[in-house]
Amino acid sequence: MRIVVKVGTSTLAHPTGHLNIRHVEELVTVLSDLRNAGHEVILVSSGAIGMGVGKLHLPGKPADIPTKQAAAAVGQCELMYTYDRLFTQYNHTVAQILLTGEDVDHEERRQNFENTINRLLELGALPIINENDTVATAEIKVGDNDTLGAIVACTVNADLLVLLSDIDGLYTADPHQNPGAALIPVVGAITPEIEALAGGVGSGLATGGMTTKIRAAKMVTASGCDMVVANGANPTVLYDIVEGKAVGTRFVGK
Ligand code: GLU
Repeated sequence: MRIVVKVGTSTLAHPTGHLNIRHVEELVTVLSDLRNAGHEVILVSSGAIGMGVGKLHLPGKPADIPTKQAAAAVGQCELMYTYDRLFTQYNHTVAQILLTGEDVDHEERRQNFENTINRLLELGALPIINENDTVATAEIKVGDNDTLGAIVACTVNADLLVLLSDIDGLYTADPHQNPGAALIPVVGAITPEIEALAGGVGSGLATGGMTTKIRAAKMVTASGCDMVVANGANPTVLYDIVEGKAVGTRFVGK
């Protein structure tokens, strides 16, 4: 299977912006194991800005663009250093790809990206993708990594996109406010009712929330790819997700 896994800042970093060592180590172990089992794995990783906040000792997620971009420049190094070190323990080679919205909108650049990622997979490398936050301005950015994950999954004809977040999946109501909210295990079609269930942006240093996840689901399911939203607090759920077992919310590809 060709699997794209997107992991959010809320999984990778503590609210302080420092690395969540347990989550990242478990994630790398599971992804390495999936590779060893013969799957092709592409990781879309957030966390650059969040980790930059931690490393630069900033008080919280910056509001202004230059500080955000500076934090991303610092945090992206920290992220790739961590991934490189951990994946190397299992003999996997990582490759960094940084994209902006312009790269995927522009025919030739998108083709270059597609060629490169396919070649990396042939060479046995594990591509790790993020938005190029240090240069992406409002006009040219994708904006969130749920959408970026969907773009990547469509570009590489993935079989499965998994969005690991700090929420267990899509609920019938906001579970933070409504104790009676129930998890929806399978979404067969993205109806206006399903779209209406998406609330706003999620926690602290994070970007997306459920709105961007449903948008991502619309994109990938239309091209026949399944998408699962699950909680990244326990990355071993990826084993069950890959086997098609019920974890989180699965949006079924058409
Ligand atoms: N590219 C951003 C970062 O690495 C994250 C965007 C997102 O999580 O949606 O900090």
